[in-house]
Order: sequence, then C-alpha cells, then structure tokens
Amino acid sequence: MILVLGKGITKEETEKLKEMLRSEGNIVKEIAGVEERVLGIVGKSCKEGSYYESLPGVERAVPISKPYKLVSREFHPAGSVIKVGDVAIGGDRLVVMAGPCGVESRKTTMEIARQVRRHGAVLFRGGAFKPRTSPYAFQGMGEEGLKILSEVREETGLGIVTEMTSPGQADLMMKYVDVVQIGARNMQNFELLKSVGRIGKPVLLKRGLCATIEEWLMSAEYILSEGNDQVILCERGIRTFERYTRNTLDLTAVPVIKKLTHLPIIVDPSHATGIRAKVSPMGRAAIAAGADGLIVEVHTEPDKALSDGPQSLYPHQFEQLMRELYVIAPVVGKQVDYAYLDKAEIMKPRPGGNKAPAKVVYSGVPGSFSHKACLQFFGSEVPLDNCSSFKEVFDAVDNEQAAFGVVPVENSLTGSIHENYDLLLDRDLKIAGEVILRIKHNLMGQSDARIEDVERVYSHPQAFQQCREFLANHPKWDLVTDKDTGSAIQRIKESGNPKEAAIGEGAVPIAGMAVLKEGIESNPRNFTRFVVISRNQPLPGPKNKSSMIYSVSDKPGALFETLRIFAANSINIVKIESRPIHSRPWVYMFYVDLEIDIAEEGNKHILDELVDKTEFFKFLGSYNKGAQENP
Ligand code: PEP
Ligand code: MN
Repeated sequence: MILVLGKGITKEETEKLKEMLRSEGNIVKEIAGVEERVLGIVGKSCKEGSYYESLPGVERAVPISKPYKLVSREFHPAGSVIKVGDVAIGGDRLVVMAGPCGVESRKTTMEIARQVRRHGAVLFRGGAFKPRTSPYAFQGMGEEGLKILSEVREETGLGIVTEMTSPGQADLMMKYVDVVQIGARNMQNFELLKSVGRIGKPVLLKRGLCATIEEWLMSAEYILSEGNDQVILCERGIRTFERYTRNTLDLTAVPVIKKLTHLPIIVDPSHATGIRAKVSPMGRAAIAAGADGLIVEVHTEPDKALSDGPQSLYPHQFEQLMRELYVIAPVVGKQVDYAYLDKAEIMKPRPGGNKAPAKVVYSGVPGSFSHKACLQFFGSEVPLDNCSSFKEVFDAVDNEQAAFGVVPVENSLTGSIHENYDLLLDRDLKIAGEVILRIKHNLMGQSDARIEDVERVYSHPQAFQQCREFLANHPKWDLVTDKDTGSAIQRIKESGNPKEAAIGEGAVPIAGMAVLKEGIESNPRNFTRFVVISRNQPLPGPKNKSSMIYSVSDKPGALFETLRIFAANSINIVKIESRPIHSRPWVYMFYVDLEIDIAEEGNKHILDELVDKTEFFKFLGSYNKGAQENP
C-alpha cells in the first residue's frame, strides 16, 4: 500500500505514524524522490485502504497493484543503486563482472583476474560451489576456492561475486564474498532466498531457466522481505524450443524489468548463448537495450577449463568487447570507465592527507548536462557542487575549494565553447580527463501536461538551434532563452504551468516533470566533450591524448615547423584551432589536441622540440580520451 501524506504533517507525526504501522507488522519505507511525502507499507497484515485513510496525516491510500511489492517501481519510483565497495550497480557507469566459470587453481584464477581488471572489469566472478547438471562433473573447489577468490580481491582490488548453493554456506559467504550469486537453478529455492535475505550482502539473482519475469520478481521479493534490499537481477537466458544456443537470451526482459522494478539489471551473455562467438554480440545488444552491466565468463585457457570452456572468452576477446561497450555506452547515456577503481581511491579522504572526500564542481543546475558529465566521470558517491558560471568553476579549482571541475569545451555540431578555451589559457590548471556525452534533447513539461497545451518553451539558444526541425513544426510556440537547459527545466518546474515546457535532457530525473516528446534534436549524432580540470592532480588510467596551447613567431613556415614535429613522430592531430590573443589584435594562439601521451618519459624529446619551435607554450595535460563515435 502507498500512503500519500497530507502537506501539513510534521516530522514527529510522520515518525509516530511509521512507528504505529511497524507495530502492526508492516515493513515501512519513506519513498524518496517525489515532492509529496509518501510512505510505502508492506506486510502480511496489510489492511484495506479505507483503514489507512482514516489515520491522522494520511491523505490517500493507493494499493500496490502488483503481487511483488517491495521490488515494484510503485513502491520505489527512483532506480536503486547497489553499492559493492566502490562499485555502484545501477548508476551512470556500466559495471562489468568477469572471470572464469569456476575457480580451478590459484595461478589461473589470478592470471584471469589481472587480465579482466586491465580491460575494465570492476568485479570478479568465479564459482567455488558449482551446481552441475551431472553429478560426475566438476563440483567446484569449495572453501579452498573461496580463499583463492579472497586473494584475488586482495591483490587486484576486484570485489568477488560467487554462487551460494545452500543455506549452510552462509557463514562462508559472510567471510569471503562481496556479492552472493543465486544461480538459475536455485531461483525458486525459497529457503536459500530467505537465507541470503538475512546475510545482508548484495545478491545477484539470476533468472530461472523456465521462470517468468513475475516469478523472478517474486523471488527477489523474498530477499527484500527479509530486510535485504541490495538485489541485482541477472537475465541469463531462458529455455525455449530453440536448441542452437544453450538458452534463448530474453533481452526484452531488460526494458520490462526497468519498467516494473527499481532494481538494477545486468545480463549474462555467456550462459545465455553457450557459444563463445555469440557472447560479444549479445553483450553489446544487452548494453544497447539499457542493461546496467554484464557478467561474462573469461578464461586464459578455455580448452582446459573444467566448466563452461566453450562459452568463455579469451582475454583479448574480452578486451575487444569492452572497447565496443566503451563506444556504445554514451549512446544510451552511460560510460565505461577504465579507471573506475583507481579513481575511487584518489577521491577518498586520506589519513594525514585530505580529510574530506575530494569535491567536484560544475556549472549549471542539478539535472544539467554538466551535472550528468560529473556523475558519469566520477560516479554518484563523490561530493558535487554547482556554480553559476564556467569562471566560477575555474575559480573553485584554482582556490582549492574543489579538487576537480567539469566544463564543456566542444559540441560535435556547434563547435567550441570559447569561454572555456580562454579560461584554460588564463589559469594555471591542467586537464586530467575527458568525458563525452551524447546530447539528447527532450521536450519536458509538467507530468500532467500534454504537448497540445504548450504555448511557451524555455531553453538555451544552442538547444533551440539543435532542435530547429522539430520547432519548425510548432511555429506558434514562444521561444524564451534561458541560461542553460537545466535552469529552463527548473523554471517550469517552479511555475507548475502546463502551458510552459522546456528543452533539456531530463536524464537525471526531476520530480514532477515528464518527457512530453523524446529525442527532438535534429541530428542524433550530437555529442558534447567535457574536460575535467584540476590543479595538478593526475587521474589514474590509460593516457592516450594530450592538449596544449602555443603561439609561433610571425614568420613564413613557423606553424608548419611545429606540425612537422607531429608528422615526423607519426602523431595524429585530433584537433587544431586558433583563438585570438585578447591583448594583441591579429595574433593567435593555437589549441592542439594530440593522440599521444606526450608527457611520457619516452616522448619528452618531442615536448622539448615543440617548446623550442614556439614563442609561447603551455602544456594542458595528458589524459584518457573519452568515448568517441570512431575510437
Ligand atoms: C554460473 O554463473 O556459472 C552459473 C552456473 O550460472 P547459471 O546459474 O545462470 O546457470
Ligand atoms: Mn558457468
């Protein structure tokens, strides 16, 4: 039952009401993310709506229409994010778990772990208890295997996902494991579900071989009803009449699950297909369908694997899959972060060092593209603050009020954002990273508004420009410019007027706002490049791009002399742009982006040569290039 509380109810009265509902044997949760104050209650002794409506402070009682309650979106409208150490499943960054089917030896397991971590996996999978179809097949190494998994975590920092097959293993799971997997064959083993519900660790609940989505969600409900709401669903293929593949991957489950429940969903393309060559195509499709991540079997010597060798990827195939996901993810509003775990380390408070976690600033209001860029680059755990201009972002980093700032520098359709190019020249700050967002514009309005009612639309001039074709079909609309897309959405949210709409993304959900029309930008290949600025704090991860600013003398061939250095060293120039120097009319600075880590020891001679051939030279930094359409 959902209880909508009256506007006048005080905090104390709410607490009293919650206490009373709990004493009647209900699980009570305050629902976050909506303007109204709402309580969700579930319990065996839940009564009729009229009973709750008679309680003081309760305005309305709405029954949850589904048989599963705690897992339903009605109960918890915002998506749940499950934390496993520094990893957040269901957030803005994809989570890929990889490793062998079963733990077979310390040496092989460790080698696989090193490889999958290098290629972007953030959690390690491996079974120590293997539920096999045949009693004569390898049954797993048991506790010995769990010890090896613990060593993997110790050495690589990867959290461990492993299967629990009986309630008797609960203590072992508590001791060794980060995520407890419930396998497909055990999805309806209710005693086991109750047991993992009580363990309190995150649970990866695989879909049963012949389970409907509703049965699967009812199994998740068992775990939540025991007080553990950290459940990650995993679609791993179902049994159909089709025998070519081991199972039939039901990718429809991804958007269906997203609609029905707040729990995150990942996909297992390995068990779904059973065929190595089919794993990557289905892994790519799963991410395109909106999954929060993948669990993939990888083995260094699959021919010798004691289980599921034929479906295990070689490490180099896993590397390729990750590269492809890196490109696909921005299209569906997510990112693959190769520096996920190392970055989290840097942001943490350190004894003797920074006492607070490192702060990140952006310009604009919550819900803006800059906000989303921060979430995608740093995750949702990092403290974020917003400023009202790009200059203030640079100031905050300059004055050590923030460790990092995120600013847009270029849009793939409309070009450079010159204000930030000038600030990069003026300030003594470095570029530490880059993130590329797909800019998808939506027409946002009040949740009860219809597009036919709209008369006035607010947005940033660039957004109007990018939605020209759509707006041409609505010539009567009054277009009003705003500071940025986030402020435009905020403004109409405050006005509450159904005749007013805003163009923006609305990807960071804003309570009370609805998408009236999705994807209204004329060209869907619309990307904005943001850079992460810092005083001099390098970020971990691969570095394959460098940025610099320089000027050359006013002589024939002076610019060519610098370009010759790039040609002679086979360096790809990704971007070159000239900007006027403000105090010297008709004199220019060149902004150059190169596909190389020019700060690396072996490339120092290139840097020296450049400094030699330029009048002014400013190195902006080396970093990992953000996902592009054509990497
Ligand atoms: C596994 O993950 O190795 C496994 C046995 O999976 P499933 O339960 O999906 O068959
Ligand atoms: Mn397996």
